[in-house]
Amino acid sequence: MRILPVSINSNFNKYNVQSQTPVKAAPPPTDTFVKSIDTVNFSAKLDERFPKYFLKELLKFGLPCPVCNKDMIPLERLCEPALETLKFFTPHLDEMTPMNKLMYQKMSELAPLHPEKNIQELLGIMQPEAEKALIFEQREILDGLNFLSRDLPETKGKELRKLIGKTFEEIFNVDIDVDKRFKRKRTIAKFDKFAKSVKDKEIAEKIIHTIRQLPTSDVSPNAYIVKYATRDPENIGMKMFADDFGTLEHIIPESQGGSVVIWECSADNAARGAISIRNQHALNPNMAENLQTHINKLIDIHDNEWPNFKTPNAKSKLKEYIFALRNEFFIASNGKIDLDISGLKSIPAMVIKYEINRIRAINNPRFNKVKKICTEELCRLLPRKSSIT
Ligand SMILES: [Zn+2]
Repeated sequence: MRILPVSINSNFNKYNVQSQTPVKAAPPPTDTFVKSIDTVNFSAKLDERFPKYFLKELLKFGLPCPVCNKDMIPLERLCEPALETLKFFTPHLDEMTPMNKLMYQKMSELAPLHPEKNIQELLGIMQPEAEKALIFEQREILDGLNFLSRDLPETKGKELRKLIGKTFEEIFNVDIDVDKRFKRKRTIAKFDKFAKSVKDKEIAEKIIHTIRQLPTSDVSPNAYIVKYATRDPENIGMKMFADDFGTLEHIIPESQGGSVVIWECSADNAARGAISIRNQHALNPNMAENLQTHINKLIDIHDNEWPNFKTPNAKSKLKEYIFALRNEFFIASNGKIDLDISGLKSIPAMVIKYEINRIRAINNPRFNKVKKICTEELCRLLPRKSSIT
């Protein structure tokens, strides 16, 4: 693999080094702001310097996807009133599944009557009726099984009717524990087990076939409403149409010692599957260019938007983040992607030292050579008297 030679033309040499003390990881803001945005579904470990509330705030200023360059929508915007959030979906109606399209229509009809409600709350309004209608659908399937029980030997028939009765109890009893309530998958597994004990293979097949007709959220609007009325608006929105939302992704996997994450659109995140973002540049010829656009936007936010940040010490934190992104991609791409961060005026020596130690901790041996180049480059940025511990 080709490694970029480290030369005086490297992007690193375009900015000065400042030996000021960097800002330590600030405590998270304690107002309601954190609570209101701390619901994104990203559970992986984050670099402690760049917590979720900081990253989410960043996305709110608008960021282009580093892979495809389209503007990413912050997920929490889905928590706003449906009258607003449904607008995100309108341009994508043709790409939506028929069921999601139907839900979009139902929500669009209801939203003007409840201008304050978000998409989850709209499903909540539809839920009681949908729940009853769903029971009718489920009852029809279970009745079909009741008829099949007549074709079985007496003891087996009784056994099947008992199983059906238990399932009815799970469906109708609203007071039972959450973990005992009706679950489609678990019910199918129970009836499959029963079918295995049935000698007449033809009836066994019919039982297996019939129980699978229990409605799912893919085919029954009622099942959809009941299922998603209990989910967060973010989950519901992602289910309806996921492509434009910002999701977080590790550049170098956590298991290899990577800690820095980047926003990426949900479509690219999902489409990539098993390919890591660090390998994506090999498949996407525009990746380096799109990444640079992403970085340029971050630098622009750093220069112009920092007074609007709620995160403490946002300006220095953002500088540190951009610097870390540059280093992470340099290593992840084996030196092929060298992002231009010369727009940043100066990097504090402590930040550089932190990065050197962080990079040394990346444990994929494939990166040993590029890690060495990167850390040597960073060491040269340090003021003479500084030393690395
Ligand atoms: Zn994208």
